[in-house]
Amino acid sequence: MTLPKIPLAAVIGHPIAHSKSPQLHGHWLKSHEIPGYYVPMDVLPDDLETVLRTMHKMGYVGANVTIPHKERALEIADQVTDRATLIGAANTLIFLEDGKILADNTDGYGFIQNIRNGAPDWDPTTGPAVVLGAGGAARAVVASLLDVGVPEILLSNRTRVRAEQLRDDFGARVTVVEWVQVNTVIDQAATLVNTTSLGMTGKPELKVSLEGLQASTLVTDLVYTPLQTELIKAAQAKGCQTVDGLGMLLHQGVPGFERWFGPRPDVTEDLRQAILG
Ligand code: NAP
Repeated sequence: MTLPKIPLAAVIGHPIAHSKSPQLHGHWLKSHEIPGYYVPMDVLPDDLETVLRTMHKMGYVGANVTIPHKERALEIADQVTDRATLIGAANTLIFLEDGKILADNTDGYGFIQNIRNGAPDWDPTTGPAVVLGAGGAARAVVASLLDVGVPEILLSNRTRVRAEQLRDDFGARVTVVEWVQVNTVIDQAATLVNTTSLGMTGKPELKVSLEGLQASTLVTDLVYTPLQTELIKAAQAKGCQTVDGLGMLLHQGVPGFERWFGPRPDVTEDLRQAILG
């Protein structure tokens, strides 16, 4: 008698202890009664290729990759989806039957799904998006906002050259705004997104003046520790609709889980509580 294979998946980073992905996928594996495992793996950058090339033989069906491996994983992969190419980084790997590695990036998908879920009336086409930050997460945010039809992105980053790089990569609908002058464009925002790490527990506060913020602006923060960031609280005080960052983390996991294990998992309030707990 041949026993069925136990599917394995992992999140690979360095460090990795902080990752909530094992809880997320563990919750879905349990709720779908799938006899698989999802484990955290701390892998040094020099070892990444060897590890990725071996995992298929060990029974792994796929993996998430996180800091600092997102760009290198894209280079190692044999096949790359269009959205991962556009973003320039991978967060989801699928180990194909023939041992080849397919790289995808679901961060932008998770970002948009989170807003659509939290603010169903949000119409990205009504006006510009002001995006704060130009790091790795910002690339996925900018790519996905352009994809859903935002007419213009006003992009501001402390280190201007990083914002300019994004403008060069993503084209004419992106305008760079000086970090110290971002308060002058806040009033134009139909959507305001914080993609910096400011406001996260242990990091400095995001000190952007929201004086000009319109009540019609949808405000979302990628930071989810704390869940209610000062930005989210200040936006709520202005009467804005807000969406916290936790849902992005949950939604970005959906395509990977479905690809690796079969069922398409739901993002539910139970799941949010399990991850917060
Ligand atoms: P990253 O590549 O390191 O980028 C960090 C960003 O924050 C850069 O724009 C950086 O500006 C800015 N920043 C950091 N310290 C600053 C300071 N003191 N003043 C002004 N700007 C500062 O990180 P990332 O991967 O993009 O992640 C950014 C944040 O998003 C993190 O908090 C991360 O946890 C969160 N995130 C959340 C999700 C989710 O699922 N909700 C997904 C991805 C990321 P400079 O370029 O000037 O350094």
